[in-house]
Amino acid sequence: RNKDMKYKRILLKLSGEALMGDRQYGIDPQRLAEYAEEIKKVHAKGVEIAIVIGGGNIFRGVAGASSGMDRVQGDYMGMLATVINGMALQGALEDKGMKTRLQTALKMESIAEPYIKRRADRHLEKGRIVIFGAGTGNPYFTTDTAAVLRGIEINADVILKGTRVDGVYDSDPEKNAAAVKFDYISFDDVIKKGLNVMDTTAFTLSQENKLPILIFDMNKSGNLEKICDGENIGTVVNI
Ligand code: UDP
Repeated sequence: RNKDMKYKRILLKLSGEALMGDRQYGIDPQRLAEYAEEIKKVHAKGVEIAIVIGGGNIFRGVAGASSGMDRVQGDYMGMLATVINGMALQGALEDKGMKTRLQTALKMESIAEPYIKRRADRHLEKGRIVIFGAGTGNPYFTTDTAAVLRGIEINADVILKGTRVDGVYDSDPEKNAAAVKFDYISFDDVIKKGLNVMDTTAFTLSQENKLPILIFDMNKSGNLEKICDGENIGTVVNI
């Protein structure tokens, strides 16, 4: 293990939408391969990696509910969508020679292990990448909340939230060219300034358990590695 790494164990959160690449829907194999390559760079340095992936590229419970579907039914469909993404990511990582395990919050014995914290720990210690699928296993939650929950459970050093913006800004950088990025911001200031980092449930869970969140641009090659090397990339939200 490389002792110079800033983080020993990370929980990487990837949104489902990120997997679409330039598509409108589904999974872009090119993007998937790029992500696998980025993850491989930090895996090679001995960082223990757990991943939570969203499902928004396939299905969201709220979207279903807005078109008349039962919300709970839609949320379970959303959770299944995260398993599809998890399997796709698992395949892409294994293509590049990494060992992985998929653990799901809903039981699916023929394709994934059930989520068992102690087992996840053991896989991580052995250098396997653990993907957590099906979110928290409960409707009305998000995969951001699942990421924080699992992050706390496995004692991750940080939640790395990969997005398409490079951090937290004082206003929307996609709308306001003068928006200023924070390198660091406290949980309290995020709330005071009304900034949007994660949904409130995920955010307060992180705050209460003092688990830092680092928001960064996952689409920029090398960023994940730089973060694990301790470079000042993205925005750190901490106490
Ligand atoms: N979901 C859920 N419980 C969870 C996690 C996810 O019900 O613990 C459902 C919910 O319907 C959500 C969908 O799965 O809309 C996809 O997850 P999310 O929206 O978090 O994905 P992302 O935005 O990261 O792609």
